[in-house]
Amino acid sequence: MGFDIKKIRADFPILKRTVRGKPLVYLDSAATSQRPRQVIDALSSFYENHNANIHRGVHALAEEAEALVEESRAKTARFIGAPKPETIVFTSNTTHSINLVAQGWGRKNLKPGDEVLITELEHHSNLVPWQRITEETGALLRYVPIEEDGTLTVEAARKAFSPKTKMFAFTAMSNSLGTVLPVKELIDLAHANGALTLVDAAQWVPHLKTDVAAWGVDFLAFSPHKMLGPTGLGVLYGKFDLLDAMDPIMSGGGMIQEVHYDRSTYAPPPHRFEAGTPNIADTAAFGAAIDYLEAVGMDAIHAHEMELTQRALEILEPDEFVTVLGPQKIEDRGGVVSFNIDDLHPHDVGQVFDSEGVAVRVGHHCCQPLMRKLGIGGTARASFYLYNSLEDVEAFARGLSKVKEFFKVGVPVKVS
Ligand code: PLP
Repeated sequence: MGFDIKKIRADFPILKRTVRGKPLVYLDSAATSQRPRQVIDALSSFYENHNANIHRGVHALAEEAEALVEESRAKTARFIGAPKPETIVFTSNTTHSINLVAQGWGRKNLKPGDEVLITELEHHSNLVPWQRITEETGALLRYVPIEEDGTLTVEAARKAFSPKTKMFAFTAMSNSLGTVLPVKELIDLAHANGALTLVDAAQWVPHLKTDVAAWGVDFLAFSPHKMLGPTGLGVLYGKFDLLDAMDPIMSGGGMIQEVHYDRSTYAPPPHRFEAGTPNIADTAAFGAAIDYLEAVGMDAIHAHEMELTQRALEILEPDEFVTVLGPQKIEDRGGVVSFNIDDLHPHDVGQVFDSEGVAVRVGHHCCQPLMRKLGIGGTARASFYLYNSLEDVEAFARGLSKVKEFFKVGVPVKVS
């Protein structure tokens, strides 16, 4: 397909709509992405042509539905460089994937005094599950500190390991500050210290090429809804032997090998972790999202996002009333820009942007401890994806001017 922004935008029906009388400028893809016609069609085609429950169905529709789900599993494995489809577990979101490891692996492997290491950048989804399992098992939760600009150095991580560290779970890219972490080096460091790794790749897989085999990562979690796919679906990649040694956290139909009145045995991964009727239609449609991203190319997508990020930073950084949070150097960033304007509340900022048709996210971005550490209540955040254009960034600049005009930022208050 190559990178043709006009053609790409034409594939996303929602971009044709207006918001508050203005063309929609969607700068909230870090929360959830929009979907191209191809994914929407795949979803309705599933319901129109193939809908049936899967697992041991012998009729044609059941076979077709199962084949579509397994095809998506195989595509997902290929997309992230996983060795085989059986290493891909479908969950309901990144949060579910991380909980599955925290509980399924943690309950079996963590003892009092053991340590789980995470970072100060984590989304609540990669923090609270570890808080809970360490409390439950008597293990200790420790944090790698970040630098002042929201970057994280391998050196800081090195100092945080101890012989008791059993798991290092970290975000590949911060959803709130846009920091891109040195993923491969951190994984190698953890392994050199005898710890396993879980990478929260919710903000990575949609935007950057992923190769779990080259990384050697043990577990990786991400959400299809942030990468043009449907909501209600999550992915957990795990090394097969690790998954095979893990207990399910949900049990019931679909995950068993044999059930007796007094005992049960479980199916091998990935089905052991997919109890009950799964999200069949969304899983089937997810394949179309992967096809779309592959056709455009992840390198081209990343290059485009960084061009938009660069332009947004050129608008924000010289403004004396704007504070840009996160890495100083653009090389340490992905397509997320968090900022505050003067002493305005981010919600007020977001509302004025919205009145201009520009959708930005505001608040703590599910990173309350990080916001507390930075001494702020929250930020406004613009995040970019393949369907955003330079015109969107110019609309963002106009939104910024509107906010300043509306709240009279920089206008001295008259004292009478
Ligand atoms: N981790 C990161 C870095 C995220 O950005 C998000 C979502 O914003 C999550 C985890 C949670 O994803 P989900 O809500 O799909 O479970």
